[in-house]
Amino acid sequence: MQKIRSGTLASLLLGSIFTPSLSLAAPADNDVIREAALKDDVAWDFTEGLTTEVGPRPAGTPQEARARDWAVTKLKALGFSNVRAEPYTMPVWVRGQDEARILSPFPQNLVLAALGNSGSTSDKGIEGEIVYFPSIDALEAASAASLKGKIAFVDHGMGATQDGSSYGYYGAARRQGPSIASKKGAIAILIRSIGTDHHRVPHTGVQMWADGATPIPAAALSVPDAEQLVRVVKRGQPVKVHLTLTSKMLMDQPSGNVVAEIPGSDPAAGVVVAACHLDSWDQGTGAIDDATGCGIAAASALQVAKAGQPRRTIRVLMAGAEEVGGDGARAYFKAHRTERHALAMESDFGADRVWRVDFKLPQGHDDLAKRIAMALAPLGIGAGRQEAGGGADIAPLVKAGVPVIDLQQDGTRYFDLHHTPDDTLDKVDVAQLRQNVAAWAVTLNLVANAAESMSAN
Ligand code: ZN
Ligand code: ZN
Repeated sequence: MQKIRSGTLASLLLGSIFTPSLSLAAPADNDVIREAALKDDVAWDFTEGLTTEVGPRPAGTPQEARARDWAVTKLKALGFSNVRAEPYTMPVWVRGQDEARILSPFPQNLVLAALGNSGSTSDKGIEGEIVYFPSIDALEAASAASLKGKIAFVDHGMGATQDGSSYGYYGAARRQGPSIASKKGAIAILIRSIGTDHHRVPHTGVQMWADGATPIPAAALSVPDAEQLVRVVKRGQPVKVHLTLTSKMLMDQPSGNVVAEIPGSDPAAGVVVAACHLDSWDQGTGAIDDATGCGIAAASALQVAKAGQPRRTIRVLMAGAEEVGGDGARAYFKAHRTERHALAMESDFGADRVWRVDFKLPQGHDDLAKRIAMALAPLGIGAGRQEAGGGADIAPLVKAGVPVIDLQQDGTRYFDLHHTPDDTLDKVDVAQLRQNVAAWAVTLNLVANAAESMSAN
């Protein structure tokens, strides 16, 4: 997931939301939809099918093409209209061999995974001395001379939070660390995984080379291996490491978004986008990131359709490429920017229970926010004080001013699994997945049927 947060404007906008008013009770529809969604089987069936029949599906690879075909077939079978793939091309980074070994003073292997867009070593690998940095800030403060010809090691332990907020700060070690190390002359960089588990599974993830930074091999050690390397470093002797991190870049590879609709009765009222991403990292089967998100988006749209045709079209957007830089979101925006988008939502933070709703609606839509908050309250969801920001798959829409609602999932265990070989189906809790579908279904129902204009003027 990639969370985008800004401001607290909504707390001003929604100051009155916390006082339920009996005259504004949710329509009976919502009670029916919520109860039916709490028994939903579609989200699980979708997640189980995609992770079993396709498995890992890195963007722009033949695996993602299979996911695209699989999703088109599945969404048609589920009864969606206008189901189609919308192709584009993109550069693709392909993992090779990931191996690391301490040569001295205490020879032993380390478990790690190259980061997306990492530079490659030769097949024989490289050797270098470790320079230890307790944080990304320490790396940033280092003199270039201290790193020339060496391997930077950034140790930057992250703690679990319910809202996932620690990812923003600690994730910088992965996102910016490689470029900083490269510019200071390092021959490679190792980081402690951006994760909250203590299993011997590394967390991969994307990083982008800053302007002027030469790609160098960049990898994440599993948390136990990073802690091991810290202990070795702290013995005080020079630490030499051998790295074999081979990978390659392929240009102009085929990728594509999958789009499916529940057509609305009033085309002029605009489209409500329910987004997720089909691609995953290569090591797990991408169950919580983001097969469940796609299961939730599809299942909740169907739950609304079961209650009758909505006023607005609900469009499920399954982005073909999110993990490696938002190519899917950009392609969708390019193709659909001239259409009227009433609202966008995205599910890309696992499938544990939704605990908070955040809004960014046009002025004058407080009553809609109140109706949604009241429909969500029976699911144990409270209204937040932050402005909704959406996620990477809808980022260009949000930037263009499209209203957005975030149904915030409990992220306490998300970063135990995120981008690891452990992101597999067995981690999905069916009861919590259904709670997500119920929260999404009542929200989509109220937005898709709202009499409000959903525009700023
Ligand atoms: Zn991800
Ligand atoms: Zn994701």
